[in-house]
Amino acid sequence: MASPIEYLHGVSAIRGDLLRKELNIFSFNDLLEHFPLRHIDKTRIDKISSLSPSSDYAQITGRLTRYEIVGEKRSKRLVAQLDDGTGIMELVWFQGISWVIKSLSLGNNYRVFGKLGWFLHKPQMAHPELELIQHGTAKPQNFLEPVYPTTEKLRSKGLDGKGISALMKKLFEKLVPDNLPECLPPSIIEKYKLISRFAAFNQVHFPANEPAYRQAVRRLKFEELFLSQLTIQRLKLNRIRTSKGMVFVNVGPLFNRFYNQGLPFELTSAQKKVIKEIRKDLGSGKQMNRLLQGDVGSGKTMVALLSMLLAADNGYQSVMMAPTEVLANQHYASLIKYLDTLPVKLALLTGSTKGKERKEILTGCESGEVNILIGTHAVIEDKVNFNNLGLAVIDEQHKFGVAQRARLWKKNKFPPHNLVMTATPIPRTLALTAFGDLDYSIIDELPPGRRPVQTVHRFEQSRPQVMDFIKEEIKKGRQVYIVYPLIEESSKLDYENLMKGYEEVKSFFPEPKYWISMVHGKQDALQKETNMRRFIEGDTQIMVSTTVIEVGVNVPNATVMVIESAEKFGLSQLHQLRGRVGRGADQSYCILLTGNKLSKDAKQRLAIMTNTQDGFVIAEKDLELRGPGEMEGTRQSGAVLFKLANIVADRAMLEAASQSAEKIIQNDPGLIQEDNLPLKNFLAGFREKTAWGRIA
Ligand code: ADP
Ligand code: MG
Repeated sequence: MASPIEYLHGVSAIRGDLLRKELNIFSFNDLLEHFPLRHIDKTRIDKISSLSPSSDYAQITGRLTRYEIVGEKRSKRLVAQLDDGTGIMELVWFQGISWVIKSLSLGNNYRVFGKLGWFLHKPQMAHPELELIQHGTAKPQNFLEPVYPTTEKLRSKGLDGKGISALMKKLFEKLVPDNLPECLPPSIIEKYKLISRFAAFNQVHFPANEPAYRQAVRRLKFEELFLSQLTIQRLKLNRIRTSKGMVFVNVGPLFNRFYNQGLPFELTSAQKKVIKEIRKDLGSGKQMNRLLQGDVGSGKTMVALLSMLLAADNGYQSVMMAPTEVLANQHYASLIKYLDTLPVKLALLTGSTKGKERKEILTGCESGEVNILIGTHAVIEDKVNFNNLGLAVIDEQHKFGVAQRARLWKKNKFPPHNLVMTATPIPRTLALTAFGDLDYSIIDELPPGRRPVQTVHRFEQSRPQVMDFIKEEIKKGRQVYIVYPLIEESSKLDYENLMKGYEEVKSFFPEPKYWISMVHGKQDALQKETNMRRFIEGDTQIMVSTTVIEVGVNVPNATVMVIESAEKFGLSQLHQLRGRVGRGADQSYCILLTGNKLSKDAKQRLAIMTNTQDGFVIAEKDLELRGPGEMEGTRQSGAVLFKLANIVADRAMLEAASQSAEKIIQNDPGLIQEDNLPLKNFLAGFREKTAWGRIA
């Protein structure tokens, strides 16, 4: 099955080249996994009278009653009529007219197949497949005909959907069941009533009927999900077995003193639970790799702090990396306040830390004098060395790439324990596939006394009322965010909108009665920092910004979040932005301002936002609306992209596959039992296959 695709009759060197370049088809196996987009049921003939605008494709047989060329130059087209006794359908060609006309003869019967359109309430087909019916009936077929995805370049070499279908038929003429041996253990085949591997591939391409196709797809999807889960879980097991973690045995004076006397508030039970889970990991002797999920405002920072104190109690250093300078500064400011009575040395390292200060911090990290280093990407630079780094905390993980995370882990002889925090809730299905090798903890409870943020959607015309409302809130001493979309960091238009918005806000809220901060990505760090600080300290009442304030910023006195052009934001971004308010005791509001023209998707997003505040619900919806490939932070991982399975639509199957994989790994981690040997062999071959010939 690993034979190069040229070994197949009908694949020339040129076609082989194109198949590789255009469709990534290198081998027989790859061709086999080039699945049809859909099938055409040519055994079914539709009646013209029963077609409706909701019909997609149709197949009609009927008599050609007339045809003519109408229009001139660019609007020139060939129009024909087909009469099947129940009604009349129009056929239209815009191209190749002289060629098509040659194949038309009035009064004869034709079978046409194509995508249905409607024109003046009449059914119409443009560029249909056309076949003369010689003896009064359409050719009988005993299977559904596959339609394959292809490209323009392949089409030009005769490999349109039909051409690929012909190759596939040739391939199946060569294949016997032994070429596609079973890889799943018998117990699983039995439990889920799956058809054999060979049958599945055969039927997915050339099913006898719809149920046969569904059976085949089910089997192949299950295989796909099961193998990926098995691979992920084996990786995890391997990591747990081989990685030596530093053991934090002592729950010492720092942790205890802070826990008993220094806590500024009572921990929520969710926070306590997570701290317990982390403590267990840290003491286990294995390296911790834990993903901590908690909705915005759920108090992840405190969990991180307590974990870092545990490290310090055991003589280890910690580092905490945040995605923006604003956020790093804020973490530093709040931790230093919490820790002011404890003998813990804290340092802040960002792109703006320069000169002597920077040198001192670097020296302090290297000597071990700095216990906790907080910072931005600056902390992963090569110049930053530690004496004994024991714990790396990554805040807002979705803002960092895998590579950046990995660099932190190399900062010690042994990789440090890792705590990865995210406020972008990851739906369970994604967590299983994209982050399956991490353990995870969830803070599923907000600190007490939080009131839900009232969220409304308003159209552009209501702007004056919105501004009046803001005035009222400011009168009460509250603060307000007004956020503008920034689709592309470099887009001039976006900045122009932001500036226009800023001027407009200024005209509603003139100085010196009101003061406004503005923060955006084009400012230098000092400007950003100054504007941010003025807002945090309450010197300005309004913060006009782009989404740079999306993550982590904490100003409890801010009660209104106005999101301009809200239709342009994705769900998770809207949720993050809304999370900036509702952090204090006062009632907070989120106002989604939009234009009047809204797409269906945008309407759905706005409805979800006004209806729920549950980050997990929003994340699931986001996944449904956008599809797994688009989820932030998972694009690079590739783990979520399957050929057939869709982790949203097939989530029940994913769960089942995951559980089955877990059971097998638990009982037979090495896959040495007889039932599991085919699986082991298959996985080994799998790896070879992907490495094979592709390192071009
Ligand atoms: P996030 O999980 O979004 O990072 P933070 O750690 O920034 O949330 O916490 C949000 C706010 O809630 C902060 O002002 C923090 O001091 C406060 N907070 C955290 N935990 C508690 C708690 N158990 N009780 C009361 N307030 C808390
Ligand atoms: Mg946070």
